[in-house]
Amino acid sequence: MAIHAEGFFSPYQRCGLCPRSCNVDRNAGAKGRCGESAVLRISSMGPHFGEEPPISGTKGSGTIFFTGCALGCFFCQNHQISRKGLGENYEEEEFLVAVLALVRHGVHNINYVTPDHFWPHVRHLISGLRRHALSLPQLINGSGYHTLDSVREMAEYTDIFLPDYKFADPGLAKYCADAEEYPEIALQAIECMVEQKGFLNSWPVEEGALSPPATKGVLVRHLILPGHIENSLLALTTLRERLGAYLPLSLMSQYHPNACCAGRGHFQRPITQEEFDRVFDKAMDLGFKNLFYQDPGVGAAFVPDFREAEPFEGNRVRP
Ligand code: SF4
Repeated sequence: MAIHAEGFFSPYQRCGLCPRSCNVDRNAGAKGRCGESAVLRISSMGPHFGEEPPISGTKGSGTIFFTGCALGCFFCQNHQISRKGLGENYEEEEFLVAVLALVRHGVHNINYVTPDHFWPHVRHLISGLRRHALSLPQLINGSGYHTLDSVREMAEYTDIFLPDYKFADPGLAKYCADAEEYPEIALQAIECMVEQKGFLNSWPVEEGALSPPATKGVLVRHLILPGHIENSLLALTTLRERLGAYLPLSLMSQYHPNACCAGRGHFQRPITQEEFDRVFDKAMDLGFKNLFYQDPGVGAAFVPDFREAEPFEGNRVRP
């Protein structure tokens, strides 16, 4: 039986919500590369303290983790939900009620993690939040693997983009995610985000001070991969050339091997301090002015287990 065939949900009919452009009828139950039909599935929702300071703030980011992923890197630290399908079905009304409950926690923003393949649901939800006069910043936390049409539409409904720039090396993108075209697709998507929203609008007023919660703009993330430092150096050089030294950039060092990394060389280990230092030094040499970074080992409390009610140990110790 076809569901959601009309209105907000028609994009599921011949799905081209991401660059994979599978053209399957998800309303009829078909699944494309993201592994999901048009039935909304969510793995976890709650205040999250593992994002960058202007995003997590002091009250947390209201994070929603969707099941499935259009990019599907084998090393994903969220592989239980992105590749293994852990999650629960939600009706549209249930989704709205759950998000309103999240808002009551006092979070600084609503943070949609890799939402591309469920964008029609998210768009519908945000329209519902607007009807409730909710003005909390809406944040797209994505893989960087987006169509330009989807970025432009997301920009109409949301305030902050937190895209990854994972791969500058097409060969590595092919090996990790079967997406050789990722480097240019992601760059164009990020450029489009910056055009629409500018750079993230929250920085500490003085050295050592807390950043106020961000309300608008773009912050790009790059996860350093073990044994693939050249990819990171090229990623930073390319971002600097295309978007300038003031691009807000977050260097992430929390790579943690999952079961799918077995037998895959360097992917079976965390990054080393030396690898991190080489990438950090490159960011400094390139003159990035707005840089977040995390020393290796610091992010261990935010390696999730989505079988737990609260998947992140780092969130459990909060009041
Ligand atoms: S969202 Fe899923 S089904 Fe749609 S094009 Fe992307 S991978 Fe394919």
